Amino acid sequence: GADFSGEMKCRGAKKQAQDVFLCLTVSQKAKAGLSSVVMTLQDITAWKRLERQLRKEAQIDVLTKLLNQGAMVDRLNHELIRAKRYGLELSCMMIDIDFFKVINDKFGHQKGDRILHKVARMIRDCFRKVDVIGRYGGDEFVVVLPETSSQNAYYAANRLQRIFAETLFKYKKVISFHITLSIGIAGYSAKTKKIKDAKDLIALADGEMYNCKMNGRNRISVAKN
Ligand code: GH3
Ligand code: MG
Repeated sequence: GADFSGEMKCRGAKKQAQDVFLCLTVSQKAKAGLSSVVMTLQDITAWKRLERQLRKEAQIDVLTKLLNQGAMVDRLNHELIRAKRYGLELSCMMIDIDFFKVINDKFGHQKGDRILHKVARMIRDCFRKVDVIGRYGGDEFVVVLPETSSQNAYYAANRLQRIFAETLFKYKKVISFHITLSIGIAGYSAKTKKIKDAKDLIALADGEMYNCKMNGRNRISVAKN
């Protein structure tokens, strides 16, 4: 067994960055006073690259390339801590496609998948780079808007609905149809005492989204605080 072992970063012969596993063994003689050390370096750059890739993939939804639910909740918790620390506002938006099952039933699951991918891209393109966008599951998306009041999140949701109202989706070039969204919004500010973590804020936004469904869909509802 080695006397010392561990991962480290170093530069290779061509000055390239490398991850290595280092084993340092001090011989019995050295321990008795003679200086002789055996050191082995194992190049683990490829392992580390794979590890980083796997870590990233574990956060990404395969179909839409957006953050998945777990990664989304982590990011929202992080943004909430920041908002609390610096006295900032923050909004959370829950977006659900209206009557998505009808699309699957009429055009098939594969077409449904392609539409989910397109909807994800439209949502991403509508928001700012600093906004965090994820697929919460099924046909449900979450957007976290840092430093944004629920009033301003409402304006952004309005813009998104307008984009969908102006977009014609097509099936086999002959059938065209519109897609509408139900959007629930919940805001965090220093005044909203009842919001402790991501779970609370998402539940509030989800409740508002549900209200939109109950009131006829294709609408926006904002939680009162
Ligand atoms: P509502 O207006 O109430 O939202 O009705 P809805 O038909 O959109 O139904 P709901 O949101 O409750 O369910 C979403 C449906 O989306 C359920 C499922 O059949 C479909 N779905 C979920 N995940 C996928 C997916 O990855 N691909 C496809 N093609 N369909 C999916
Ligand atoms: Mg739906």
